[in-house]
Amino acid sequence: MKTSKILVVEDNELNMKLVRSLLLLGKFEILEAMDAETGINLARETMPDLILMDIQLPGMDGLEATRIIKQDPVLNGIPVIALTSYAMQGDEEKAKFAGCTGYVAKPIDTRSFLEIIDGYLGPRSGLEEQS
Ligand code: MN
Repeated sequence: MKTSKILVVEDNELNMKLVRSLLLLGKFEILEAMDAETGINLARETMPDLILMDIQLPGMDGLEATRIIKQDPVLNGIPVIALTSYAMQGDEEKAKFAGCTGYVAKPIDTRSFLEIIDGYLGPRSGLEEQS
């Protein structure tokens, strides 16, 4: 059984902790980066099934990181889901324009999170493989 690998790029410890605990509940394999450069390097090394990308990051932001991923012939097939902040108006539009497949709004709704993630993965990945 293949476990889906999810790379989380998030600089906020509390958000990372929440996302980590939710993904562990979903039996996903988790890779973590707290800045964009580390995230891109980790993506190249590990080829995750999906990337959760915070927009507001120190240094290179999540939008620029997504553009780099989408321009990379090796990485561009990996869906990038933006973690957008409710307080940042227009983030969803910017995320889609940068090449994100979708977004999850913060604060994260813990009840729908795994369902949303599962929806962006293939039908034979993640939670669905448990049944
Ligand atoms: Mn952030």
